[in-house]
Amino acid sequence: MKLVLASGNTGKLEELRAMLAGQPFQIVAQGELGVQDVPETGLTFVENALIKARHATAVTGLPALADDSGLIVDALGGAPGLYSARYAGSPSNAAANNAKLLEAMRDIPAERRSARFYAVIVLLRHAEDPQPLIAEGRWEGQITPAPRGDGGFGYNPVFLDREHGLTAAEMDAATKNRLSHRGKALAILREQLQRLQP
Ligand code: IMP
Repeated sequence: MKLVLASGNTGKLEELRAMLAGQPFQIVAQGELGVQDVPETGLTFVENALIKARHATAVTGLPALADDSGLIVDALGGAPGLYSARYAGSPSNAAANNAKLLEAMRDIPAERRSARFYAVIVLLRHAEDPQPLIAEGRWEGQITPAPRGDGGFGYNPVFLDREHGLTAAEMDAATKNRLSHRGKALAILREQLQRLQP
């Protein structure tokens, strides 16, 4: 079965292809099929994922996968949340986002620095599909006082997994994928996809 991925992010494409290896799904990036990005006008992660997937399946006629994710910081009322990618402005800049976050958290003591990464992945079989597959993942942690490590992307250097005592940027990719919000959501999606097969 061919699935279109409603994202231009090659990292996500590779991650999904690796997770679905050995299964009868071929994942094609929407850009390869001439699908443009659509404005993410939803007020929740799941709405934005559905908007992206609906657009991709409407244009291509193929079932569509889309994801949305972000960092939720309790002491900041959930910010940067839906706006994680462009927290410090457009275009998206991870170093500027991390600097803005650490500044906003400067006076917050360790016991109030809780945060989580959240990811949702959806699959719409067609543009009017009333029963999308929806898989969520969360990763609990806390915001460090200063950046640590240089692996991965985004807020990795300021997100500490307390149990492992490492930031997401200090972990190897396999450890991060096992613990992460996206890894957990993908594992759930993979099970749901297996049930879809004839
Ligand atoms: P999107 O899901 O592509 O819209 O990305 C949302 C934003 O959330 C990214 O640009 C990152 O800033 C942040 N983010 C989501 N997942 C991660 C992660 O695993 N590590 C670091 N930052 C992340």
